[in-house]
Amino acid sequence: MPGDCKIREIIDSSGIKNLKIYHDADMRRLINFRVNSTVGTLVIAENNEALKNIIAFIINNNIRYFIIGGGSNSLINDMNENIVIIKLGRFFDHIDFKEEGNIVCGAAYNMGRFVTECYKKSYNFAFMAGIPGTVGGAVAGNSGTKFNSICEFIESVECLKIKSGHIVSEEHKLKINDFGYRFLNIENLVAITKIFFKKERSEKELVFNEILERIKYKKAVQPLNKFTAGCFFKNPLNSSKTAAELIDSLRLKGFRYGGAAVSKKHANFIENPAGASSMDIYNLSKIIAGMVKDNFNIELENEVKLVGF
Ligand SMILES: Cc1cc2nc3c(=O)[nH]c(=O)nc-3n(C[C@H](O)[C@H](O)[C@H](O)COP(=O)(O)OP(=O)(O)OC[C@H]3O[C@@H](n4cnc5c(N)ncnc54)[C@H](O)[C@@H]3O)c2cc1C
Repeated sequence: MPGDCKIREIIDSSGIKNLKIYHDADMRRLINFRVNSTVGTLVIAENNEALKNIIAFIINNNIRYFIIGGGSNSLINDMNENIVIIKLGRFFDHIDFKEEGNIVCGAAYNMGRFVTECYKKSYNFAFMAGIPGTVGGAVAGNSGTKFNSICEFIESVECLKIKSGHIVSEEHKLKINDFGYRFLNIENLVAITKIFFKKERSEKELVFNEILERIKYKKAVQPLNKFTAGCFFKNPLNSSKTAAELIDSLRLKGFRYGGAAVSKKHANFIENPAGASSMDIYNLSKIIAGMVKDNFNIELENEVKLVGF
């Protein structure tokens, strides 16, 4: 793998059209943890062709990459400049309500706007209300609540896959085994570009009330006004307790490591209250997971995607 200076040169020399390239891009604008640092190289692809070409170029040059959506479930290591961050540009930021029940949405579309626009057309995605990020990011991790998750309402996704060393764009029909609790598993998936939803209409007033209820609930139990990435760990499947309950029972709420802290409001949220570095957050997560393992013999799995650690 080339070194970080070389990576910048290689990306600059790609000659691919419809790309925006930023070196030392501000991490605070990329991830919800708002770590005050930079990422080596950020590339914004302004259309499908540019996305396809830059990913192929990066792979051919043996460079690591990470596709980022809204960055509300990701932590990037600012000490590691060897990873190129790729973001989908405005071309992927669209929504279209087709004939009855069919909604077509670009992967870069904002989740809050998605919930609102669907409500206006009487489609109930209230369970996604208050979840930040993009629709593509939500689909990639099958985001949702304990009752519903977004992939349940998807017929297919348009995506880039790697096949025989080539990046190809295709429509993938979603099967029940492709997704589960906070995961989507499509073989050879590189990036999701468009999502085809199918949903029955609901009564508009009911949707409105459910959205309000959902936001009220989230405000009551989650630190929505803090810099976090949502639940850091998935709930363990082999325990009757949630990750938050396990962490809380160790009295870790408020526990700090460097600039990072376990939320006092929700034990499964790590906050960046004051100048946490990526490493502070990462190390705190390791301490928490280690204590849960030592005390309950349970391995917590990260829900937050760690990049470059
Ligand atoms: C306050 C708060 C509350 C939250 N509440 C919830 C909740 O109730 N339920 C829940 O499930 N989550 C919750 N989250 C976590 C997070 O908001 C969701 O997981 C969200 O859907 C992630 O979207 P994103 O665009 O920010 O993803 P990112 O963080 O940008 O990326 C997450 C993953 O998706 C991948 N990805 C992103 N875009 C694409 C793409 N186009 N193609 C392929 N892969 C892609 C990334 O590579 C990464 O692996 C919360 C977060 C916060 C900060």
